[in-house]
Amino acid sequence: MEIDQEPLLETTCPFCGSLVEEERRYAYPLWRCSCGAIAAGAQPCDLDEAADQLIDVLGLDFRASQPCLPVGESGLICATPYDAALVQQTMEQQLPARGFETRRTRLPRSVTFQGRTIDLGMVLIWARQSSAPG
Ligand SMILES: [Zn+2]
Repeated sequence: MEIDQEPLLETTCPFCGSLVEEERRYAYPLWRCSCGAIAAGAQPCDLDEAADQLIDVLGLDFRASQPCLPVGESGLICATPYDAALVQQTMEQQLPARGFETRRTRLPRSVTFQGRTIDLGMVLIWARQSSAPG
């Protein structure tokens, strides 16, 4: 399914209420508000990778995703345990510890594909430096 041609998604900044347009430079959509807040968004099943992307964009030094665990004996296959609640908990603990406020918002979204409506609703994780004005 090709989604690159869709219009950019807009959402409201939870810190200042401004309307922010999606930035499509990264693997996951990113929103940068003029107040300094940055958000990464993904469907709930990909939230760990979107959170890691946000951490990279902010230049921080922790991970929201879990370490990759080897499966079987080959060492070639691994599985990343995934726990959306733990991702959010990690962000809510680690961001304030580094001087960032964090918020979580939802962006409802769906596409109709071959007559079926598919829910692509996203969770957005926001971060803004606590010292930012506004
Ligand atoms: Zn803002």
